[in-house]
Amino acid sequence: MLKIYNSLTRKNEELKTKEAGIVNMYSCGPTVYYFPHIGNFRAYLFMDNIRRVLKYNGYKINGVMNITDVGHLTSDADEGDDKMLVASQRENKSPWEIAKFYTDVFMVDAKKLNIDLPENIVPATSVINEMIEFVKVLIEKGYAYETSKGIYFDIARFPAYGALSGMDIREKLAGARIEVDDEKRSPYDFVLWVKAPKEHIMQWESPWGMGYPGWHIECSVIGDKYLGEYIDLHTGGIDHKPVHHENEIAQSNCFYGHQVVSAWMHLEFLQIDGGKMSKSLGNLYTIADLEKKGYSAEDFRFFYFLAHYSKQQNFTFDSLDMAKNTLKSIKNLAKEHKNGNAKVDTSAYQQEFLDSINDDLNMPKAIAVVQKMLKEERSSDVYLALEKFNQVLGLNLEEENDIPQEIKDLAEKRWQAKLAKDWAVADQLRGEIDSNGYVIKDKKDGYDILRK
Ligand code: AMP
Ligand code: ZN
Repeated sequence: MLKIYNSLTRKNEELKTKEAGIVNMYSCGPTVYYFPHIGNFRAYLFMDNIRRVLKYNGYKINGVMNITDVGHLTSDADEGDDKMLVASQRENKSPWEIAKFYTDVFMVDAKKLNIDLPENIVPATSVINEMIEFVKVLIEKGYAYETSKGIYFDIARFPAYGALSGMDIREKLAGARIEVDDEKRSPYDFVLWVKAPKEHIMQWESPWGMGYPGWHIECSVIGDKYLGEYIDLHTGGIDHKPVHHENEIAQSNCFYGHQVVSAWMHLEFLQIDGGKMSKSLGNLYTIADLEKKGYSAEDFRFFYFLAHYSKQQNFTFDSLDMAKNTLKSIKNLAKEHKNGNAKVDTSAYQQEFLDSINDDLNMPKAIAVVQKMLKEERSSDVYLALEKFNQVLGLNLEEENDIPQEIKDLAEKRWQAKLAKDWAVADQLRGEIDSNGYVIKDKKDGYDILRK
């Protein structure tokens, strides 16, 4: 039985779905205004993690992720400029070009990380009409009102506001530095639709004149369009909990008149050297940065497994080294097991692996189970179990292709020398292969090439 920590009820509970065997799942996606960093990708590795664990448990997934290409202001609480606008000025490109470019960058990295992407990936700008219709309903039902600046959600009409973060949001936001706007009924009312000044570069016709959507409305509307009025599971980063997700709950629950999302899961942040990542500190790394330093996207994927998603994870190059080496040793052992002849009963390991992932995605424990199993006598039974676990891990266990041709050639020459009992040449070739970072393991009638 899959148990997850539901941030809404603050309990570990069994995942329940409206329809047996099918999970309606929504994941907050990227704002495509800049290169995604490895912290962002921790969020999508988490999404991948839960998706693969659901599938491992036999669920079918209806998954949706938004792509924010309009409306996300530099502060999550509706202040500052639109991030797309800032990027388009910075790079002297249209917001559409910016969105296309950074969506492609995201997809390339997601593929390198072997992230199991949702069935539907939906840009906010593709649902402008639906957003307008949704806002209209909120106005009709008395949950939203118009000012000279836009359409605002009236938080006073939704007493349950703040339930997810469990703090008195009204107090918190009222105390926060919020632009005074006399037209708003209260300072914590948030924007659903913004009336655009003439010069604003992204705007659409609406019943309230030209304008563009607020950031939060896109997730309610995309969820509604693709999943309907009941969503079993909603994922996102912890930073989204106090504003973005509270607002989404307010919008969706008022639209339908009932609770829409039953379970929320939140990912804690990746820290760098024990602190925050930021461009100004020069410690904001992308997958491409890691690659330049000699790490693969897969090394970072494996690094993700080494901490529980609900805990902050500290990134250092030492810890990434550790992840890389552990991954290497797992792959080397996997290869040895593949052709192993011993008989090993892996059922206890399989149970332990399942129990770990079903215990709110305890990946560090699941990896420990893998490592324990790999210590068994070399056996193809172990390899078969590992292949099964790999549905969750998503690693490239068959590294054959990653071994450069020149190393394969050297290995083949050495093998021929060995067959010809030309020990001196065989040893010299082995040395050469070794100094290139590979080792040869001889078998009865052949050899394996392993990365050191
Ligand atoms: P954004 O593209 O800015 O909307 O962020 C995309 C996702 O990355 C969101 O779900 C954030 O919660 C998440 N995120 C941003 N920074 C970090 C971090 N340092 N660690 C983990 N997740 C993060
Ligand atoms: Zn969202």
